[in-house]
Amino acid sequence: MKHRDTTRAVHGAREDLRALGVHVPPIDLSTTYPLDDLDSATASIDALVEGKAPVGSPIYARLHNPTVARFEEALANLEGAEAAVAFASGMAALTAALLAARQDGEHIVAVRPLYGGSDHLLTSSLLGLETTFTDPSGVRDAIRPNTSLVILETPANPTLQLVDIADVVAQAGRVPVLVDSTFATPILQNPLAHGATLVLHSATKYLGGHGDVLGGVIATNELWTRRLRQVRIITGAVIHPTAGYALHRGLQTLSLRVLAAQDNASLLARRLTVHPAIGRVIYPGLPGGDPLGLLDRQLRGPGAMIAFEVDSHEAARAVLRNLKLITPAVSLGSVDSLIQHPAGLTHRVVGAEAKASAGIHEGLLRLSVGVEDVEDLWDDLAQALPHASRHLQLDRPVNSDLMPWYPTHVATG
Ligand SMILES: *Cc1c(COP(=O)(O)O)cnc(C)c1O
Repeated sequence: MKHRDTTRAVHGAREDLRALGVHVPPIDLSTTYPLDDLDSATASIDALVEGKAPVGSPIYARLHNPTVARFEEALANLEGAEAAVAFASGMAALTAALLAARQDGEHIVAVRPLYGGSDHLLTSSLLGLETTFTDPSGVRDAIRPNTSLVILETPANPTLQLVDIADVVAQAGRVPVLVDSTFATPILQNPLAHGATLVLHSATKYLGGHGDVLGGVIATNELWTRRLRQVRIITGAVIHPTAGYALHRGLQTLSLRVLAAQDNASLLARRLTVHPAIGRVIYPGLPGGDPLGLLDRQLRGPGAMIAFEVDSHEAARAVLRNLKLITPAVSLGSVDSLIQHPAGLTHRVVGAEAKASAGIHEGLLRLSVGVEDVEDLWDDLAQALPHASRHLQLDRPVNSDLMPWYPTHVATG
């Protein structure tokens, strides 16, 4: 019987537990495994080196780990993928995808904006690849005979640009498309259903969900699974079994956390829109936030990330300094709310021109909304935002048409 998403998130890759006589998966910490028979061990090594599942013994922890494999299976299931491969971090996962792609050609097409670290990896020549950066409409023209991968993020970090995956897939033609779906999670978006070949998550964010585990994962087809496992075996970018365990557990509450945080974010985004200290608010659920009409068609909800602009670097600093409940910190997707300044932090490594064209201005703040009581989050923003107002003209008209129910008592704090 095929269960629904939420049920699969709770029960995924746990089907054998009852037979094992346990309620939660055991954590397998072995770095090596006793081999009862040389011939069967050799057969297992041969399978693993080809990027297949072990036939019998996992042999050695860099080749395979059963605890990590449970997380991979559960995540693949949520993405509607044949399999998934987990790595030590999101960046390790992206690096593995690039190394795996390299055998097909040394040119990559990347749609900006991307997470700062991904942008940095692609602009560096570290992996011996050349990258053409483009906007979503320029993919077709950017493809060359030696292009081996198209990379995009949607919603994109940090500007929440929504990219039409099916359109980019069509433009890419024979070239496989990798979608970084970290912001959406498998709860809100399944890129493979729109023609992407690979979907990547920084598992550090929503999948773990509590800010205490670093990891990355790619869900994909059989061919790419084998390639990615081979790269992982060769480079050693494995994730620790306890991290694999934490991520597998994280999936059980993923839907609850994402939907609760999304409810909070929807409300905060609408209130921020009419706050006098704030210029642009970027959130897919706001009027104008989804110019391509991707909500529902591709993205099942606007998510829990909000970007908004205050007038200057100084104003942004003043907001960060005065927040008491919301933590100024990079990263996202935790149960607690985090806020950061992309131009100064996560996207500091991105060139000035690329930042400007992607809309990453000095006054831009990125808020990862958590699952706290939304009124406490609003109170905190409402008391901190007036500190930004010292840095701008205070007579900006408030557009109260947008939000007729906007509660005036929290307007200034
Ligand atoms: C954080 C992040 C990454 C990198 O993941 P790490 O786990 O930090 O290596 C990649 N893509 C996006 C969208 C991210 O937010």
